[in-house]
Amino acid sequence: ENFSDMNFSPIIQENIKLAQYSKPTPVQKHSIPMIMNRRDLMSCAQTGSGKTAAFLLPILSLLFEDGPPPPPPDPRYASGRRKQYPLSLILAPTRELASQIYDEARKFSYRSRVRPCVVYGGADIGGQIRDLEKGCLLLVATPGRLVDMLERGRVGLELCRFLVLDEADRMLDMGFEPQIRRIVEQDRMPPCGERQTLMFSATFPKEMQVLARDFLDNYIFLAV
Ligand code: AMP
Repeated sequence: ENFSDMNFSPIIQENIKLAQYSKPTPVQKHSIPMIMNRRDLMSCAQTGSGKTAAFLLPILSLLFEDGPPPPPPDPRYASGRRKQYPLSLILAPTRELASQIYDEARKFSYRSRVRPCVVYGGADIGGQIRDLEKGCLLLVATPGRLVDMLERGRVGLELCRFLVLDEADRMLDMGFEPQIRRIVEQDRMPPCGERQTLMFSATFPKEMQVLARDFLDNYIFLAV
């Protein structure tokens, strides 16, 4: 199995070549076909396994397949930039991980209409707001800072069709479950089944199983 057999859109194929990725890693080989078939996924994968590209490549490719983004649901923002409605949301536990995911997202969305943004705590929120205002179709965020952006009315989740929880076990260990549930269940995110949800975690303890049951729809469990 090779990247060229994975039915990615031409821009994604081109960007994989630019990144000089020649062969998919095991987690990529197993996850990508499932994600391209629009299945929900619980994947047990370690850092360094190539899990970031395993979700970014198919999500970016499906975003292109799905065509241009729909108009913002709130007509007040139809021409303005005040509030952004990302089509894809990636939640990560730390600033470091969020930045790494963002760097990969920039690399793979090169020369496409998808503009990635990243927001995390412990940094000036003003700069992040100004960056969001330039447009954001793919948002990488830590849970606390995203809740802040939602409460400030800077981000709306109504159009979010792809949700990723990366290093979900670490997010639970760090006490982010209330923020995660607030984002996924108590805002305007499309419900389970109307969005595609992918969870990555090194371990699969009881609390993760509960989160998987609540967030995933008819999901595939992958342990590579
Ligand atoms: P990750 O596990 O997602 O943090 O990825 C670990 C590192 O491997 C990152 O520096 C990626 O850019 C790199 N990487 C991921 N997939 C591939 C691949 N198929 N070929 C070469 N390098 C890769």
